[in-house]
Amino acid sequence: MWLNGLFSISQSQPGLVRLTSLTVTTRFGEYLEFSGRIESDQPVDSLTLTLIPEKGSPANLNTVIGPDGGFSLRYDLIKMPLTPFTRLTYTITFQFASGGSETTQPFSLEYRDTRFNWQTLNGNDVQAYWYDGDLTFGQAVVNTTLEGRRRNLETFPSASLPPLKIVVYASASDLQSGLAISKIQNIAGHTSPESATIFVSIPPGPDAQLEMRRQLPHEIMHILLYQMLGSAYTNTPQWLLEGIATSAELNPNPDFERVLISASQANTLLPMESLCAQFPEDAPAAYLAYAQSGSFVQYLMSTRGKDSLQILLAAYRNGIGCEDAVYQTYGSDLGRLDLEWRRAVLGYEPLTAALNTLLPYIILTASVLLPGLILILLAHLLQKKESVNEP
Ligand SMILES: [Zn+2]
Repeated sequence: MWLNGLFSISQSQPGLVRLTSLTVTTRFGEYLEFSGRIESDQPVDSLTLTLIPEKGSPANLNTVIGPDGGFSLRYDLIKMPLTPFTRLTYTITFQFASGGSETTQPFSLEYRDTRFNWQTLNGNDVQAYWYDGDLTFGQAVVNTTLEGRRRNLETFPSASLPPLKIVVYASASDLQSGLAISKIQNIAGHTSPESATIFVSIPPGPDAQLEMRRQLPHEIMHILLYQMLGSAYTNTPQWLLEGIATSAELNPNPDFERVLISASQANTLLPMESLCAQFPEDAPAAYLAYAQSGSFVQYLMSTRGKDSLQILLAAYRNGIGCEDAVYQTYGSDLGRLDLEWRRAVLGYEPLTAALNTLLPYIILTASVLLPGLILILLAHLLQKKESVNEP
């Protein structure tokens, strides 16, 4: 079911035109409709509504004024999608029939996902939104965000973070449909780093706190990295962005260690060079990519120091390529560092791993060849025996 988000104001302001009512109707993912009525001492022909998103370019909407002073215009969210929960400001300019114009003061509007009844709480430059769960749940979202922000800034003390918006959906399907309806394409994971808005799905319940401590610091780190890298963020290697974000989780995923050990034993770890551009689409391989990147970045931090990551990030900000920046920062190529990490953290040995990989083939080959070999041997022995028995 679609719900309309409505708000209206009544105001009169000094000048020739009095805006006597103004209503904004939101149909999430479809349109924003602005309607109202004016009274004016001079005939007004038309009006222009200028809508300015928090980030992005302004849009101008034009319409004529009806004989009764009424007007209505729509912003098309299908043609010009907006990130949900973005704040918009807008002004209305009236054009007089006699020439000249008059512009209102700026109004403000938040574009929400109107399918749900949102609760909100803010504190210390953090604004939390949720629709399932009580106030304690919302308070936990704010508190975990504050802790995650503090810990992330300890990792990169020279960085800064803008005010954060945390939007908590109660299910992955609610979240996915919200993002799909909004046609949001440049959201990496569930974060819109340019608008400092984090979208997560966490249902209230016994695991909520753990999930908050895992997901929120991870997503906050993406915003912090975006602040540090600017437009170079999208070209920065995935293993580094996701590795740093995964390392920031206050409750690390306990399953990652098991996945890494079994991939190491089966010799199926992914080469770090293959994680420069993007992670695999296949879900188990993507899961392994997160586990590897997190562990690899932690290894770099513990053996080369946190400062080395700042130097590496600065190299990427300057547009240096994935492997060249690693060599420039660490004096060692990515493949060599990858092997060093595998040996130190996972006890990986290339020869043993190769043998482990080949073992099933060796067994298979032996099981195929062995009966033949035994037959040849038996035939040979019988022949010998016969020749001995010869007179
Ligand atoms: Zn991430």
